[in-house]
Amino acid sequence: MALIVQKFGGSSVANAQRVRNVASIITDTYKQGNDVVAVVSAQGDTTDDLIEKAAEINPKASKREMDSLLSAGEQMSSALLAMAIEAMGFPVVSLLGWQAGFRTDRHYGSARIKAIQPERLKAEIDKKKIVIVAGFQGLNSFDDITTLGRGGSDTSAVAIAAALHADRCQIFTDVEGVYTADPRKVEGARKLKEITYDEMLELATLGAQVLNNRSVEMAKKYNVEVEVLSSLKRVPGTIVKEAAKMEKMLVRGVTKDTDVARISIIGVPDIPGIAFKIFSKLAAMNMNVDIILQSVGRNNTKDIIFTVSKANGEAAVTALKESIDCLEGLDILCDTNVAKISVVGAGMETHPGTASKMFEALYENDINIQMISTSEIKISVLIDLASADRAVSAVHKAFFPVD
Ligand code: ASP
Ligand code: MG
Repeated sequence: MALIVQKFGGSSVANAQRVRNVASIITDTYKQGNDVVAVVSAQGDTTDDLIEKAAEINPKASKREMDSLLSAGEQMSSALLAMAIEAMGFPVVSLLGWQAGFRTDRHYGSARIKAIQPERLKAEIDKKKIVIVAGFQGLNSFDDITTLGRGGSDTSAVAIAAALHADRCQIFTDVEGVYTADPRKVEGARKLKEITYDEMLELATLGAQVLNNRSVEMAKKYNVEVEVLSSLKRVPGTIVKEAAKMEKMLVRGVTKDTDVARISIIGVPDIPGIAFKIFSKLAAMNMNVDIILQSVGRNNTKDIIFTVSKANGEAAVTALKESIDCLEGLDILCDTNVAKISVVGAGMETHPGTASKMFEALYENDINIQMISTSEIKISVLIDLASADRAVSAVHKAFFPVD
């Protein structure tokens, strides 16, 4: 007998038929002699719909009231799922975040879980009940409802798995697992059996939207093995786990990120302190800077080029023009017609030649590289947006030949 935490995303419980399907996955697991805690997201687009409703009434609504509103989505789905299980004749109880012991910090809208007080959860499990928990929500020190940020139910599930030392944490979704590339777009993309936490984090940040980032960070911190699998097709998914327990793969996946703007500052004076001024200004504005490139100085000037998210592009240009004296009169350009293509794999640390293989694939397809950045487990290039899909396919084919 094992304790299994299962999480079902919004698309998995989108309508009555899907709620019943999820109920049967849960009860099948229970019938096999397991204890089950199931975490559920709001049905379908409920959260987006609630955000729209709020905007109709007050586009500047306080975050506190937004959290109170948005948590209702999970309140509904958790009760509905419990009703479906009741109808099948199984003992079940649904719990809201606060009833399940979720204590968070004060940050409405993107609260972090500080602790789970598991007594109630444990008591219900001891009574042999299937426990359904409303994901995405908790209670802060003012006894106010908080939410954990979009996609936060994954984190709720991993946190429960960690707090209860569950034997397994399964995240059910509408895809069958984590793939080497987007299977809808890239021919030959395959499902991975396993992936390390770090690789998953890179893939998540780079736009492979299977698991919420914070949930992977938490899984890594508490060493919770997470299985990502489909709620619609009962086949094995992908296991996210510690690197030490698995074979290193040279490249685990190829991703595309189109939420990128490239800022170029041309002809900056070649003196100390400029980079500091630029990047401390952006940091103060809470802007994440990704790839940074600085040219070698010539004629006492240099160029500094970097990327930020699309939404921050124009704001970065304006802020730099206005606030840094020595950039006055210089060309500061923002180009949003770019995309970042990355290969991710823990094995590249010990295998020279990964970068050249990637660059060769791009060259053979006549795709120009504008910027390059590397980390221990990732190589990213910035290219023209129009070539992005072609680039992903070409690079994917180089590392995962279609046979
Ligand atoms: N319902 C919330 C959202 O849509 C939380 C979640 O789905 O995990 O962001
Ligand atoms: Mg959702």
